[in-house]
Amino acid sequence: FTINLIEIQKMITFLNDNFSQLNDFLHERTFSKIFILVDENTHEYCLPTLLGNMETDLNFEILEIEAGEEMKNIQTANQLWEILTEMKADRKALMINLGGGVITDMGGFVASTYKRGISFINIPTTLLSMCDASIGGKTGIDLMHYKNMVGTFTFPEQIFVYPEFLQTLPFKELRSGFAEMLKHGLIADEKHWNNLIQIYKLDVEGVVPHIQTSMDIKQDVVEKDFHEKDIRKTLNFGHTIGHAIESLCLEQGNPVLHGEAVAAGMICEAHLSYLEGILSEEDAEIITENIRRYYPYLDITDFSNDDICSLLLNDKKNTDSKINFSLLSAIGSCVYDHQSDQNKILQSLEFYRKLN
Ligand code: NAD
Ligand code: ZN
Repeated sequence: FTINLIEIQKMITFLNDNFSQLNDFLHERTFSKIFILVDENTHEYCLPTLLGNMETDLNFEILEIEAGEEMKNIQTANQLWEILTEMKADRKALMINLGGGVITDMGGFVASTYKRGISFINIPTTLLSMCDASIGGKTGIDLMHYKNMVGTFTFPEQIFVYPEFLQTLPFKELRSGFAEMLKHGLIADEKHWNNLIQIYKLDVEGVVPHIQTSMDIKQDVVEKDFHEKDIRKTLNFGHTIGHAIESLCLEQGNPVLHGEAVAAGMICEAHLSYLEGILSEEDAEIITENIRRYYPYLDITDFSNDDICSLLLNDKKNTDSKINFSLLSAIGSCVYDHQSDQNKILQSLEFYRKLN
């Protein structure tokens, strides 16, 4: 087990401008063939940089899928398995996932199941995939309208980070990923939170210096509790209500980005932490005020309490009919498995509604 931990720790590498560490990795290991999975956007914006820096003796194929969460399904996985088979990929092939969380989830899933598992590495290109999705060993696809229903726990062999990729990322995507960074500060590291809220105007230059800390926090939590028995649950802060908001917005035909919903979820759950008597009112206010500086208000007035509660009860984290939350006891400190009653939950939603 100890050896495992050391292996996990070595996994994240920030790339030099000539990608030398990636080239070293690819040469040290003799892969029979390299498959680079991209979506249409990372094909256009990131692949040229990757190929321009990869040494020319390496033998690779490009696999491209359309962009978007709708592609994260079994049909796409099946197509990729078939292409790998047609191209005679053997057990010593490598998959390079160059993209956001859809690509790292999908590519990780396909690689971890093809021929019972081939090696893969992640090169995350969105802020969300850098700070969250590419780390932690969860791979998967959606099933019907349920997210991440089928998947594996498999670590990439390496995660190579090149923050310059963020230069072409749309602002809303950057802001969405920033919510996970704020979450990391709130649950585990007050200093990180304080550094993040110093960012006056949210942009690439502002976030890049803090990516590593955010990755380290996620990595650390995952190492301590890979199977989500205890501390990994803290990563769900803001996500219980956040997911419900995300689903209802989608159902109503006004889809919002994950991080936008999580930002609203974090405001609700910080207030809930206060209502539960575990977080000071002052800290709850600081959290609300700062999150609101970055995120537009999401109009949840039309969501009925019944709809929200039934979604919360269906959340896969719940056992029986209790609703489990990860809540804050301070900025930088999180408790998990806190059961809240519906009354307080509805009050916290009401608090958010009134912020408009
Ligand atoms: P995404 O992969 O769909 O990327 C968002 C958009 O940005 C896409 O249109 C993509 O083509 C585009 N894009 C990516 N990189 C770009 C770049 N450098 N320049 C310009 N455009 C670029 O979405 P995401 O937000 O990165 O990830 C969301 C997914 O991650 C969800 O499916 C979610 O379930 C998953 N996720 C997984 C984990 C995990 O632990 N495995 C954790 C969090 C999220
Ligand atoms: Zn999230």
